Amino acid sequence: MLEITKENIEKAIEKAKATKPKVKVIEFRRYAVTNKTTGANYEVKFYKISGKKFAECDCKATKICYHIGASIGAHIIEAEKMHTATA
Ligand SMILES: [Zn+2]
Repeated sequence: MLEITKENIEKAIEKAKATKPKVKVIEFRRYAVTNKTTGANYEVKFYKISGKKFAECDCKATKICYHIGASIGAHIIEAEKMHTATA
């Protein structure tokens, strides 16, 4: 599990914009990311612990990867929906 910081997520989003993987919502905080070129599938999970944000991806990367960068956009939309639903 890796902590999301402003710096590392910005880099991951930049990379995601260049590779444009496909993101599918599995459930809130869980996303399936597909590399359109290779067809490889990865699962990204988001966590919130004591106000800090964490993410996990099942690819080999040991830092915030572009799969996480690609999923965060969908995650923000989902999180907002949850807020609206519970408000
Ligand atoms: Zn990854």
